[in-house]
Amino acid sequence: MRIILLGPPGAGKGTYASRLTVILGIPHISTGDIVREEIKAQTKLGNEIKEYSDKGELVPDDIIIKLLARRLRKPCCEKGFILDGFPRTARQAEALDGISKVDLVINLNVPDKIIIQRLSNRLTCKKCGAIYNKLTLKPKKDTVCDECSSGLYQREDDKPKVIQERLDVYRKKTEPLVEWYKKKRLLKDVHCDDMMIPPEVVVEKIKVIIDASRKQGFPRNLTK
Ligand code: AMP
Repeated sequence: MRIILLGPPGAGKGTYASRLTVILGIPHISTGDIVREEIKAQTKLGNEIKEYSDKGELVPDDIIIKLLARRLRKPCCEKGFILDGFPRTARQAEALDGISKVDLVINLNVPDKIIIQRLSNRLTCKKCGAIYNKLTLKPKKDTVCDECSSGLYQREDDKPKVIQERLDVYRKKTEPLVEWYKKKRLLKDVHCDDMMIPPEVVVEKIKVIIDASRKQGFPRNLTK
């Protein structure tokens, strides 16, 4: 099944996708993680895109589309994938149409107040990328990852002055995709209005939608 998780930064896309990938047995593809991997490896491209990412701006479409297409060509994506953070612009959605079919788009609706609270308290593992929250999803030891024992840090773009910029970019450039996928009859809404709802509860809601979609005959032919 080919699933897109749509929603503002801090909606929980990464947290839910990391659980769904285990349940569904298909890869979780986060373009944010791909961007951070490039930056960490200090490749020529990584140095070029760091500036955008640190400021909360979008990496240019041409670059991100190439990076995503490269990832989707890997054999592990043949049976489907969960996309987190892509597409984020109309151009990216059009490009994705040319690369792969999509079976389902889950639109996570989260009020700004919760997003700001969530992102400013988010901690990320330096090594494996696992996500924690100082209020709702605490690691067992304060700044250590439960999964791989590496250190946790606050992402540069989770700092308060960058969060508002990321939200503005989302509303302007990404939110119009809700209509785009609604017209294609692929979009299903999930509402998360309470910061204290455990991730498992939202994942279960998404799972129910996926099961219903399967009953309607998705995924369609997986050859493209
Ligand atoms: P994320 O972890 O999804 O919030 O992404 C972190 C940063 O990576 C974003 O603020 C952008 O700078 C960049 N990025 C990730 N995905 C995309 C995308 N689809 N288009 C443009 N930039 C992206």
